[in-house]
Amino acid sequence: MTKLNLFKAKWKSSNPQIREEAVKSLKDIAALADIAENDEYPFVRKAAINSLIWPLHSDIITKVAINDDDASVRKSAIEKVKDSVILMYIILKEPDEDNRLTAVENIKSTEILARLGKNNTACDYARQLAVSKIQDEEILGEIANQTSSYIVYSKAIDKIKQKSVLIHIIENSVSYGARNYARNVLINISTCHKCKSSCAIYYCKSCNISICKKCIQEKHSLKFQSELYCPECNKLIDNKLYRNYFEE
Ligand SMILES: [Zn+2]
Ligand SMILES: [Zn+2]
Repeated sequence: MTKLNLFKAKWKSSNPQIREEAVKSLKDIAALADIAENDEYPFVRKAAINSLIWPLHSDIITKVAINDDDASVRKSAIEKVKDSVILMYIILKEPDEDNRLTAVENIKSTEILARLGKNNTACDYARQLAVSKIQDEEILGEIANQTSSYIVYSKAIDKIKQKSVLIHIIENSVSYGARNYARNVLINISTCHKCKSSCAIYYCKSCNISICKKCIQEKHSLKFQSELYCPECNKLIDNKLYRNYFEE
């Protein structure tokens, strides 16, 4: 060992194991950033990333999260990112699915989660996870209205309990599949307002009630299948809502 080596800082050691150990207590941020970005060994870069702090060192953490060649190093960096806009950017660029899901897990902003859910160019599983983190039924309805991806709209619709939101999807979604899925959910959660039987398949938008065919017939004899009148308000029921999409 040369005299020079004796006094060389441990993080400059030619032995990567010693560098990995040394970066854990290294306080020189410029040196840490340099190692996080440039060390030849992924496990050393990871150790350096783990010594950095968000948001103090957000620039270097973001840089590594986006640019490192090694997926496990990017993951360590992504786990530290707390900015939802940056996480959204990472999700759209990140080639590794596990890393994309890690990024979605870290998003705290409902607005960004909603934007991801609606983004038809983003990965379906990332969008599905975003949807699972959203509680607002109106937002879930907007997502279901804008996507043809089954795993995205089914996740969104399964979380919706408000009939008005389901009807909005049935009437407005760009996707036949989503419209039909919402229709089935609506039928399954509908109990007849009058006789309390399940599977009430008609709905009066004026009264905001579900009603079964038997109860409709008791008050208004059916002249035509297409003309059903609400037994409460006597207005015409829009039974288009319940028509199967194969008939459209
Ligand atoms: Zn009934
Ligand atoms: Zn009515």
